[in-house]
Amino acid sequence: MAGIVLSEAEGRQGKRRGFCIRGLRTFLSPGVGSLHFTPLVRGSGCHWLLWICWIPWALVAEGDSAVPPPILTNEVEFPLRLASPQPLNPTFPRLPSSDPPPVVPSLPLVLPQASPWPTQALKGTWIPLREWADYIGASAPKRVADKPNAAYELKAKRGSLVFRVGSSRVSAFSTDVMLGQLPQFIAGEPCAHRLDLEKTLFPLLWPSSTLLATTNRFVVLDPGHGGKDSGTQSFDARYYEKSFTLDWALRTKALLEARGIPVLLTRTNDQEVSLAQRVFIAEEAKAAVFVSLHFNSATPLVVRRGLEVYALTPPGMISSVVREGEDNPRLSFPNNHFDPSNTLLAWLIQRAVVQSSGAYDRGVQRARFMGVLRGQKRPAVLVEGGYLSHLEESRRISEAGYRQKLAEGVAKGIEQFFELPE
Ligand SMILES: [Zn+2]
Repeated sequence: MAGIVLSEAEGRQGKRRGFCIRGLRTFLSPGVGSLHFTPLVRGSGCHWLLWICWIPWALVAEGDSAVPPPILTNEVEFPLRLASPQPLNPTFPRLPSSDPPPVVPSLPLVLPQASPWPTQALKGTWIPLREWADYIGASAPKRVADKPNAAYELKAKRGSLVFRVGSSRVSAFSTDVMLGQLPQFIAGEPCAHRLDLEKTLFPLLWPSSTLLATTNRFVVLDPGHGGKDSGTQSFDARYYEKSFTLDWALRTKALLEARGIPVLLTRTNDQEVSLAQRVFIAEEAKAAVFVSLHFNSATPLVVRRGLEVYALTPPGMISSVVREGEDNPRLSFPNNHFDPSNTLLAWLIQRAVVQSSGAYDRGVQRARFMGVLRGQKRPAVLVEGGYLSHLEESRRISEAGYRQKLAEGVAKGIEQFFELPE
């Protein structure tokens, strides 16, 4: 079929490589499919047949468990034409490559303090929500939904927690957080895993108890990728992820510095910086907080959108996302010392960016494979600001005004992290 071009898309951190079929993906995208679909088949005899194939796909495509429709591979023209990204828009903010390397300010070292954990008042691995509610001073669990999962709401001082039996997604004060273990019924009672209650929800209930006693507010922002490592590409193959992340970081830096919060970037131009160097820069700067900025990409036939913030998986907990089967719950890294603060920082940024941008809330997630987080001796998170593989979201990310909203969200989340909530 004329108009279908294969474009090379490099996966996150340059490790996955695949092909996205731009025309076909547009054709299959729910919400926009009908705009493109009808002109393609108008007048053909297979109009109704294709509609019947497309509608069920559009209904399920947004979910993670979407079943991809069959690809009509004989419609791809051969030989394959690889689309190469066009040069950046001249108005795209960039710093000249001759800029000197970032100056690392000299700040007094603030040693992190051990994070307080809740007492072991509750016994056992699986805690009934009824006991947990009583322990945290919340209302007794109230069943608020039966389908698709039995949902229970606990009203705490800071807001509502909604657990769903059989679902890892918990609504924590209207922002979603992913649990390591699925809540389940035990002896007829809804229960959640102790690690999830202690390491994911407790820091959100008592944020002041998880924050480090420090006056250091130095932030290191990490624009993902750079140089030969381009990251993924925008849906229209015009821009690389590395350009968007740098622009996003520059905008966030300006906002934070206007609020009196000093910021250092791990790169200020299109240069390659290894993951180890990024950790080293934060270490040298004695940064109070490290935030890595990325955009996401799904495999070609998965239609996925939305914002997610990653924190390192605490020891013993199962990760939300694994890579190449790598997820050993017995592992512990230097950054795990900051598990409660990581959770809180991730949740604050997730909430603020969802509010500022209107992006779909994919929730705070956990991963153990992210090298840029593992060695951080400070609260550290990685923000995935949306899916460049999604037509609509990629289009929005390509707009400077939308990236400014993403920057406002990150800046607000970091600023709130430094304010000691009650
Ligand atoms: Zn990336």
